[in-house]
Amino acid sequence: MPSLGAIVATRVRLPLVAWDFSTDPAFQSKLDWMTGFVREEIWPLETLLDELDWDGLMRAIQPLQEEVKRQELWAAHLDPELGGQGYGQVKLGLMHEILGTSPLAPLAFGNAAPDSGNSEILALAGTPEQKERYLYPLLAGDLKSAFSMTEPETAGSDPTQLISRAEPDGDGWVINGHKWFSTNGSIADFLIVMAVTDPEARPHQRASMFIVDADAPGVQVRRDVATMEHPWDSFGLYGNHAEISYKNVRVGAGALLGAPGAGFLIAQQRLYPGRIHHCMRWLGVARRAFDMLCERSLYREAHGTTLAGHQTIQNWIADSAAEMQAARLMTLHAAWKMDSEGILAARQDIAMIKYYGARVLHDVIDRALQAHGALGYSTDLPLEAMYRYARGARIYDGPDEVHRSSVARQVLRRYEPPADRVPTEYIPARREQARQKFAELLGGVTAND
Ligand SMILES: Cc1cc2nc3c(=O)[nH]c(=O)nc-3n(C[C@H](O)[C@H](O)[C@H](O)COP(=O)(O)OP(=O)(O)OC[C@H]3O[C@@H](n4cnc5c(N)ncnc54)[C@H](O)[C@@H]3O)c2cc1C
Repeated sequence: MPSLGAIVATRVRLPLVAWDFSTDPAFQSKLDWMTGFVREEIWPLETLLDELDWDGLMRAIQPLQEEVKRQELWAAHLDPELGGQGYGQVKLGLMHEILGTSPLAPLAFGNAAPDSGNSEILALAGTPEQKERYLYPLLAGDLKSAFSMTEPETAGSDPTQLISRAEPDGDGWVINGHKWFSTNGSIADFLIVMAVTDPEARPHQRASMFIVDADAPGVQVRRDVATMEHPWDSFGLYGNHAEISYKNVRVGAGALLGAPGAGFLIAQQRLYPGRIHHCMRWLGVARRAFDMLCERSLYREAHGTTLAGHQTIQNWIADSAAEMQAARLMTLHAAWKMDSEGILAARQDIAMIKYYGARVLHDVIDRALQAHGALGYSTDLPLEAMYRYARGARIYDGPDEVHRSSVARQVLRRYEPPADRVPTEYIPARREQARQKFAELLGGVTAND
């Protein structure tokens, strides 16, 4: 009988299969550096966020950005020729898991939404002039941007209904529209605006994207909308969501991004990878809440034992650990699929992680908050803010229901109804077929029926 050592050695010699869950050591050391840097340098700043306006925040963040650049981790979502690292989605995903632990970390690493997605749009569809004027300064952190698509009057979950218009005017365009929830709109230097250019075209070819300078005549940032995440009136804070009117805003021909009617096509390129980044960032938040849940369960005593001694809390810990693991693997798999087979091949996986990841985020935070009782509900801990943040995840970048519906439709395409309307697995019919198929073999048995 072979010794245990021999068995282990045999296993180790097995050829590696293509499904590899390891991270290469060089990249792992970058991730380890990031983890320490984010915890030591960025988490403390969170507690001062409400006291800092944009300029104050940037004074605190800029030295950190310099350090990130020195580490060659700046704007990692973009190709090297654009000043990024050219990491694929899997590496980016692993980075975002760390950055997600703090709302400020993406800013320090040059890949905060919406600037990161907007830089992807500019890299993808921008002309050399547009890149020069907007993309490079955006990447350098000298400009800020917003993505202005959703309108209060039409369903954001069905953007083919957009009514904002851009009409040709001489060699340029005139834009009229009303948008809201343009994140960072009140601090942006330019806005990427989605507007209908050809109302008669097929639904997904009606709209185009335009780069509009925030100080262009006719652009009016009416307010920052107070939300569940920031439920107080404020203006010009990082992460606010602006309501904006565009009244007869005249832009030159050079403001059009890509071809006329290509708005949805470009948006797709931006939103799909963006969802992977969101989901990984949510896992970072969930992990932080989970750590708090575990810590609390070890010291809080109630009814004769620590919380960890109660089965309900054990279930919360076990379920949270399993759900986070599932969401993580699903998300990294979607990222891997996008890297290896392209955006369209990963469509279903990306839609699945969007609603699954949002639910895991919510449930883990909810359990951690509950385990802290009144303390969890108070602003002495970050859990209540995480909880409010988590609720938005079910809405932005497409509500849960839209992604579920899309997944169900894609799944159902692989099925057909049975011609005779009898279920394929209907046992009496299968038994009859089996009797005929094996009649000779089972003659003796069936004779005894
Ligand atoms: C925090 C946050 C940040 C955002 N940032 C931006 C931004 O930077 N730029 C921007 O342009 N927009 C942004 N948005 C807007 C966001 O994209 C929209 O809110 C989203 O697309 C939903 O559109 P809506 O709010 O108009 O809801 P609606 O489209 O009116 O949908 C309302 C509800 O209807 C239901 N529903 C819709 N379709 C279906 C369906 N097919 N089946 C079943 N139920 C359905 C869902 O329950 C859905 O939640 C942001 C939103 C939030 C919350």
